[in-house]
Amino acid sequence: MITAYNPRRMPLVTLTTFRNAHDAQLAKAVLADEGVAAFLGDENITSLAPYTSPMGVKLQVASEDADRAESILNRIAGLDVAEQATASAQHAIRHPEQCPKCGSADIRRTRRLTGFLICAALLIAVGVAVEQLIMAFYLIMAVCIFFLVASPYRCADCGHRW
Ligand SMILES: [Zn+2]
Repeated sequence: MITAYNPRRMPLVTLTTFRNAHDAQLAKAVLADEGVAAFLGDENITSLAPYTSPMGVKLQVASEDADRAESILNRIAGLDVAEQATASAQHAIRHPEQCPKCGSADIRRTRRLTGFLICAALLIAVGVAVEQLIMAFYLIMAVCIFFLVASPYRCADCGHRW
């Protein structure tokens, strides 16, 4: 519950200073949501002249609420950072959505490991059958290199690989 501000009972402490009134209002609303009464200092001056006030808007809370309010604000800031980090991480590992050649969205991942295992199994079987295991081993190495350098993506429409 938000209690009315009584200056004699609760000395205010300034948590942080916002450059514009809008951000300060937002923080105040978030704190109010969490049941912490917050007060904005210098708000009127800053909203009247947001670009000329060097002071910004002070976000103030009762000293007894200061720790809680700070952890709430830190949590919000932390979430913000976490969302941005996740977005960029997803961007970094994102698979292509379109064929660079024809623009088709029908992209297949080539199954390099499966292909390699099948080839290796066949070569071992043949090597055992013709008693040429050393030869089979070298062929498997060659096939392994081939699959390592093979393109990981294939377009189902035009067959383009990249
Ligand atoms: Zn294509």
